Amino acid sequence: NPYIANDQRYDNMMYNRTGKSGLKLPAISLGLWHNFGGVDSYENGRAMLRKAFDLGITHFDLANNYGPPPGSSEEMFGRILQTDFKPYRDEMIISSKAGYKMWDGPYGEWGSKKNLTASLDQSLKRMNLDYVDIFYSHRFDPDTPLEETMGALDQMVKQGKALYVGVSSYDAEQTKRAVEILHDLGTPMLIHQPNYSMFNRWIENGLQDVLEDKGVGSIAFCPLAQGLLTNKYLNGIPKDSRVSTSGVFLKEDNITDEVVEKIQLLHKIAEKREQTLAQMSLAWVLRDNKVTSALIGASRVSQIEENVKALNNLTFTGDEIAAIEDILKD
Ligand code: NDP
Repeated sequence: NPYIANDQRYDNMMYNRTGKSGLKLPAISLGLWHNFGGVDSYENGRAMLRKAFDLGITHFDLANNYGPPPGSSEEMFGRILQTDFKPYRDEMIISSKAGYKMWDGPYGEWGSKKNLTASLDQSLKRMNLDYVDIFYSHRFDPDTPLEETMGALDQMVKQGKALYVGVSSYDAEQTKRAVEILHDLGTPMLIHQPNYSMFNRWIENGLQDVLEDKGVGSIAFCPLAQGLLTNKYLNGIPKDSRVSTSGVFLKEDNITDEVVEKIQLLHKIAEKREQTLAQMSLAWVLRDNKVTSALIGASRVSQIEENVKALNNLTFTGDEIAAIEDILKD
């Protein structure tokens, strides 16, 4: 059945400026790391993309290696772009990345110009696109001069293959250098993509200061700690969970008694705020406007609907923040 986007799609989403750039991103973005691969249901992936766009989610995040198998998420996304989203390309921000292992041999990963350039060309082919909106160096390469990696990003922008560039998981010092190198080349760094959630707060320790100082935006990946910060694991491990269906990046070992106790306590605070734990977790990531967008994943349409409603209550009282700190403190 043909897709016609909901004409009220822009009514309820919030769009935040990305650092000091001209680009706004939706407060909630959708990532295609899980559930859009060759092993997954095409129709489910398609339904999630349609629902996301209908709810005002304009940003879709991919990487060369998403699947499994690697590359298949970009292929699925490319097919759905063709069938459903062709008229809407200019309403979408599509990102990809290179840095993790994608093909055999010395050029299939890390941060050489060879890897990044070839990988972006492959991604554009898989998605059937002329350009991506944002391209990332997926991880810092300790063996390649940062000037080379940033030079590759700068070249993509100058060639028109990427409109903006960013880095992912670079630490504070690496980020500072990367911003400066890019600046000297005449290409601003748009955005940093770090892991950030109530269960992973490393960016508060230096990186956020660098980003603010340099006017770089941020998009938090795994804001729900891969599903831990939802009601999913409150009472055991359901069959239809990432732990049961994938079990690679989030494992049974991660669901310790200590984690479950924290989740249960956080869930109680969320209930008092008349939110689900997922909604509170997203509101928490977005608090104080330090993070441009919370980059969620989803395995079904209903999760996207639930998560977008986080925007109905984004404010925290001092007491709520203190109670959450108390739960997270050890
Ligand atoms: P999340 O922390 O948002 O976890 C998403 C998973 O949580 C879903 O797939 C689902 O898993 C579960 N979930 C989501 N909403 C709900 C809900 N309302 N109720 C119950 N369960 C829910 O993010 P991801 O780990 O998926 O990562 C998001 C994106 O971040 C990726 O797609 C990717 O784009 C990016 N990313 C980037 C990385 C990088 O190195 N730059 C690394 C990792 C991710 P299920 O139902 O299957 O249990």
